[in-house]
Amino acid sequence: MGFDKGNNLRKGKEPWNKGKNKSNSDWAKRNSERMKLNNPMKNRDSISKRVNTIKEMYKNGEIKSWNQGLTKENNNVLKTLSENRKGFKFSEDCKKKMSKTRLNLIKENKVKIFGKGIEIPKSYMLGKHHSKKTKDIIKNKALNRDMRTFLGKSHTQESKNIISLKAKDRLKDKTKNPMWKGGISFEPYPLTFDKEFKKLIRERDNFTCLKCNTFEADAKKLYGKNLTTHHIDYIKENTFKENCCAVCVRCNAEVNSNRHHWTKFFQSLLAEKYGYKYSENGEIILEVNNEIK
Ligand SMILES: [Zn+2]
Repeated sequence: MGFDKGNNLRKGKEPWNKGKNKSNSDWAKRNSERMKLNNPMKNRDSISKRVNTIKEMYKNGEIKSWNQGLTKENNNVLKTLSENRKGFKFSEDCKKKMSKTRLNLIKENKVKIFGKGIEIPKSYMLGKHHSKKTKDIIKNKALNRDMRTFLGKSHTQESKNIISLKAKDRLKDKTKNPMWKGGISFEPYPLTFDKEFKKLIRERDNFTCLKCNTFEADAKKLYGKNLTTHHIDYIKENTFKENCCAVCVRCNAEVNSNRHHWTKFFQSLLAEKYGYKYSENGEIILEVNNEIK
């Protein structure tokens, strides 16, 4: 292991204060009492004074950092360190340990994850309703701003036909369909939004949240839930693989606002990853399958 070799550089040089403590060393005892009375490291004024003095000294060229101008080409220590670390990788065991430590820290509330544990105040609209006038204003604003991808738009006739066919197919026993490959294939398009379909989507996305790249196993530990299947255009009826992706619970809550942005985000991601096609204004372009007529 690279780091073990690196430690050999210091072999034979023991720290001067090794093993010294209050009970066996006068020096340590005196030092401890002095620190109790006035610890310069706990005195903010004294710290900033020191920092400023050192900054000045660097500026005036009175002191130089020890490693200024040193590279592995002109310094043997740096050269050895660099060579020892070449190709160094954490072992799988080590990675597991680090992951475990982090999860424990989160559990013990010693580390905060962004967005978790932050209380969201209850909506001031809780139990109230907008007036008709306000509703109209909100709707018009949404239309003008193109907030929702599909508001005020419609599918092309071709897309509608496909959706209708898929709906009809949904009623049939999917396992009797000639295209059914034992839960492996997505074809033909519409499977019902059931356990099976959700699993296929998560499988396709490698059991990883497409927004924050959290693995399902980690998401389960963090949030107590598997990844969820998100409808990219927020329309539950559009249950196609082109319109669904795996996200963790946290991200699923986050993508509920700023919907237009997130539709674009996931569509361009899926287009890049799997070659799906979408129109410029966010419509899903389904490829007509020969099997569906
Ligand atoms: Zn996520």
